[in-house]
Amino acid sequence: MPYRAWFQCISGCDEKYELNEVVYQCKKCGDLLEVKHDLDRLRRHTPEHWKKLFDERYRRTKWPYGSSVWGKKEFVCPQVENKNVVSLYEGGSNLFWAERLGAELGLENLWIKQCGNAHTGSFKDLGMTVLVSMVKQMISDGKKIPAVACASTGDTSAALASYCAAAGIPAIVFLPKNKVSHAQLIQPIANGALTLSIDTDFDGCMKLVKEICLKNNIYLANSMNSLRIEGQKTVSIEIVQQFDWEVPDVIIVPGGNLGNTAALGKGFLLMKEVGMINKLPRIVCAQAAKANPLYLSYLTGFKEFKPVKAQKTLANAIQIGDPVSYKKAINVLKAFHGIVEQATEDELANASAQADTTGLFSCPHTGVALAVLIKLIKRKEIGPKEQVVVISTAHGLKFSEFKINYHENNLEEVTPRFANLPVEVPAQYEAVKSAIFRKFEQIP
Ligand SMILES: *Cc1c(COP(=O)(O)O)cnc(C)c1O
Ligand SMILES: [Zn+2]
Repeated sequence: MPYRAWFQCISGCDEKYELNEVVYQCKKCGDLLEVKHDLDRLRRHTPEHWKKLFDERYRRTKWPYGSSVWGKKEFVCPQVENKNVVSLYEGGSNLFWAERLGAELGLENLWIKQCGNAHTGSFKDLGMTVLVSMVKQMISDGKKIPAVACASTGDTSAALASYCAAAGIPAIVFLPKNKVSHAQLIQPIANGALTLSIDTDFDGCMKLVKEICLKNNIYLANSMNSLRIEGQKTVSIEIVQQFDWEVPDVIIVPGGNLGNTAALGKGFLLMKEVGMINKLPRIVCAQAAKANPLYLSYLTGFKEFKPVKAQKTLANAIQIGDPVSYKKAINVLKAFHGIVEQATEDELANASAQADTTGLFSCPHTGVALAVLIKLIKRKEIGPKEQVVVISTAHGLKFSEFKINYHENNLEEVTPRFANLPVEVPAQYEAVKSAIFRKFEQIP
């Protein structure tokens, strides 16, 4: 009996569709879909079998299982044939023991999951490999899909463009004009995608891309397409695997469209259902104060949820006021004893810079998560002995403008407490020596 997974409506209305059907929302009630797995089939193997199998495949070369997403293929998307997998060796990212940063903040056991150490520099690769593989599978089955499109705050478009280029599938990306970093803008351009720079924000791009896709048979790659969540949920499995199948106490993730928060929870719940773990971590979603609809909902005990108009924030990838996956994220936060907290521009920029002084090079979104960590430690909601994992969502090198402007004190609403400007000196021994001695007074 083969492994099986299908789309199912999250509202409980019982609608189901095959994974190779072009469908993003329930046709009956319009709610989001999620991928469900045949649990009985997965439970025919012991938890030990799965752990051993995943460990044997991890970062090896047997196609496509060396990818940490496809190494867990039975839990992710069993229907794609291996020859149609479009993989750039995603996952397997460093789980960084932030010993010095932890000590500064009063934690013994702080870890940063470096999801930005990835092919296109963000965690979006984890989901995009699954979506583009399914598109390739559908094309090879004879379906007509002329192109794949997404709206993006910069990282989804980079991932879509790269995976489509690797597969030879046309890609169209909708970007809000002047709201993504240079590195994020050049990625889809370099990969040959049709790059639309549109005079609106992400929420505006999202409305347009939905309409274009639905009316023109173009495949939609945004995270309302729950295939992406399936790939992204492997981050939870991978973290537990990296801790030799032990579950950490707390995980903090920055949230914008909230697909990643939903994915994180989904991975843990699946492992629990299969018996591979027997506890769940606490999940904390960290939002920018300039784009905080989930935080505002949290303050009402999730009784209401209202979209907001997202304001400009340094954490541009989470500048989203109308997040598509809010229901899924709220379900996860309820099941995981969740917390939502927010960070101001000053807090996120300084937290990111402080982390950098301990050897990291963190993006502004990781800064949001770190700033929230600092708040929760101060409020004693996180204790000194707890094992905490912060999800770093992108590589800091994508955000060099943010870094330079921080150190040059050019960021609005930010007082840089860790600024470290280059010291200009003439090419003379004495000048160089005195510059060094000014900095390190203790050198004899
Ligand atoms: C996409 C993204 C996020 C937010 O993830 P959501 O699933 O939209 O909540 C955070 N950080 C970075 C760097 C991203 O690219
Ligand atoms: Zn439904």
